[in-house]
Amino acid sequence: MIQRFLFRAPFRASPRITTLAIPQHSAPWRPASISHNLPSIAPFHTSSGARPTPRTPPNAIHIRTPSLQSPRLESSFRRPRRPQKIIHTRFDPEHVRHAKPLLTGEQLAYVITHGWTKVVVVVGGVGSVIFYVWNLEEVPVSGRRRFNCYSESSVEAQGKMMYEKVMRDARGSILPDYDPRVKKVQRVMERLIPASGMEDTRWELHVIHSAEMNAFVMPGGKVFVYSGILPIAKTDDGLAAILGHEIAHNVARHQAEQLSSLVILAPLRWAFIFLDSAGVTAGFGRLLGDLALQFGLMMPASRKQESEADYIGLMIMAKACYDPKAAVKVWQRMEAANKSDIPQWLSTHPSNNTRIEQMAKWLPKAEAARDESGCAVTMGYAKDFQETMGGWVSFGKMI
Ligand SMILES: [Zn+2]
Repeated sequence: MIQRFLFRAPFRASPRITTLAIPQHSAPWRPASISHNLPSIAPFHTSSGARPTPRTPPNAIHIRTPSLQSPRLESSFRRPRRPQKIIHTRFDPEHVRHAKPLLTGEQLAYVITHGWTKVVVVVGGVGSVIFYVWNLEEVPVSGRRRFNCYSESSVEAQGKMMYEKVMRDARGSILPDYDPRVKKVQRVMERLIPASGMEDTRWELHVIHSAEMNAFVMPGGKVFVYSGILPIAKTDDGLAAILGHEIAHNVARHQAEQLSSLVILAPLRWAFIFLDSAGVTAGFGRLLGDLALQFGLMMPASRKQESEADYIGLMIMAKACYDPKAAVKVWQRMEAANKSDIPQWLSTHPSNNTRIEQMAKWLPKAEAARDESGCAVTMGYAKDFQETMGGWVSFGKMI
C-alpha cells in the first residue's frame, strides 16, 4: 500500500524502499515524414545521426518541427534513455510514530499565547456575532428564527448548474403540455401558488415520465414532478399535499439556509484541520469533525426543515381549499410503497410515521385555515356538483 504522509518527517532510505526499472524501448522514436500534397520531404534525421542529403529540388518546401531542432532533444532521440527509478514508500507505523507534527507543542503554545492572537480572536469573535445577529430572520408561516446570509438571486444562480443537469438527464422524458398528467399538475399548481404568496415568482413546471417517486422545486420556482409519484398522490388533494410541501421549501427559503449553514460550519472545519496539523487529533480530527458536523448539525437541521415544509405545505394546501386530511393519507401510501429501514437519526428526512403523527397534530389548525379562506362555501357548491355528476373523475385511476 502506497501512503503519503501528512507529516514533515525527514526522509530516510530504508530496506522497505525498492526500485523498479522501466523496460527500455526496443528502438528510439523518430518523427515521421509529412507527405500530403507537398513535394517529397526527407526525414529529419537518420538513425546514424547524420543528416541525409536532400532529394528534393532546392526550392522544395521543408517542414520541420522547431522543438526538434534543439540539440539536446535531438541527442535524446538518438541515445537510449536511462531507466527511470520508481520509488515505492510503504506505510511504516514506526516511522509515523516518530514523525514530527507540522506545529510543535512550543510553537502551538506561542501562537495561542501571543498578544496578536488574542486581538484576532476577540475582533473575529465580535465580528462573527454581529454578522450572525445581523442576518437573523424569521421564516414565513412557521415563525422560526434562523440565520440566512444568502439572497434569493444568489441561491438561484447557485442552483443553475443543478437545473441544467436535471434538464439534461430528463431529456426525452419531459412530458408535453397536452399530456393529462401535466394538466393535472398545472391545475393543482395554479391553485397553490396564490395561497403560497409567491405569485411574483416565474414558475416553471416539468413533469418527467419516470417510475421514480419524487418531486422537487428548485430556487426560482422550477418545479419537477416525476410521474412515479402520481399514483401515491392519487387525487388532486394528495398532489396538493406533495406540491404544497415542495413549494413550502421555496417559501421558507431552505436552500439559502443550507448554504448559510456552510458559512457557520467552515470555521469549525478549519479548527479540526488546525488540530490535525498540531498533532492533537492524530490525523483523525478532520474526519471525526466532518462526521460530528454531519450527524450533529446538518442532518438534524435538514429534518427540521422537512418538518417545517410539511407544516407550511399543509397550511398552503388548506388555504387553497384542498382537504388537508389527504396529506396524512399520502404519507401512509408513501410508507406502504417505500418502506425504509434507515433509522431516523441517520436520515435527512423525518420518518414517514413521524410525519403522519405531526400532520395529524396540525390538522385542526389546517382545517381552521381552510375555513377562514371561505372554502366551506366553495366546497359546498363542489359537493353539489359532485353529486350531480356522480363523483369526481380521479386522475389517479387513469395511470
Ligand atoms: Zn422536502
